[in-house]
Amino acid sequence: MSQREYHIVVLGSVGGVGKSCLTAQFVQNVWIESYDPTIEDSYRKLMEVDGRQVVLEILDTAGTEQFTAMRELYMKSGQGFLLVFSITSMSSLHELAELRDQIIRIKDDPRVPLVLVGNKSDLEEDRAVSRARAFAVSQGWGSPYYETSARRRANVDEVFKDLCRQIIRRDVELSR
Ligand code: GDP
Ligand code: MG
Repeated sequence: MSQREYHIVVLGSVGGVGKSCLTAQFVQNVWIESYDPTIEDSYRKLMEVDGRQVVLEILDTAGTEQFTAMRELYMKSGQGFLLVFSITSMSSLHELAELRDQIIRIKDDPRVPLVLVGNKSDLEEDRAVSRARAFAVSQGWGSPYYETSARRRANVDEVFKDLCRQIIRRDVELSR
């Protein structure tokens, strides 16, 4: 059986919500305190989901190319999306609605695999977005919500695994 390869895009506010730190923790198991915010790169990782091996190609976006052909291109080729905000910033959550609209428009699929991710859960004392609020947003989207800490590597694998499962499910639905 051939190995499946899935394209995942990590999106979110430009203002340092932790996209690169999350990606680095997932792919390389390292905590990188400070990451060049302008770097946009992709990484490959082998993962086992429900007994099957999949290869993930993960694009960590920098979000500097707003509304260009570049963005359209990676939204088109992405099969699953992590929409990341920081629990310490309400505006970083608000910014995601527009990104989601764009993804759905470009993919022409209202049920595109997507996970809402509230990062920096270790900064509970600086929390500006309640769990209930974020959960309500995710429910409205029909997507799951996870809170992660890239710093503590909390819930990092779970987010990618959930997204993988959604991609596999959607693949099956679409090929029927
Ligand atoms: P990006 O612009 O979304 O890629 O954000 P980065 O991954 O570069 O992270 C931006 C800043 O947030 C950096 O200073 C990180 O050290 C910090 N950061 C990222 N994730 C976490 C986290 O889970 N907890 C804490 N406390 N800080 C984080
Ligand atoms: Mg980054």
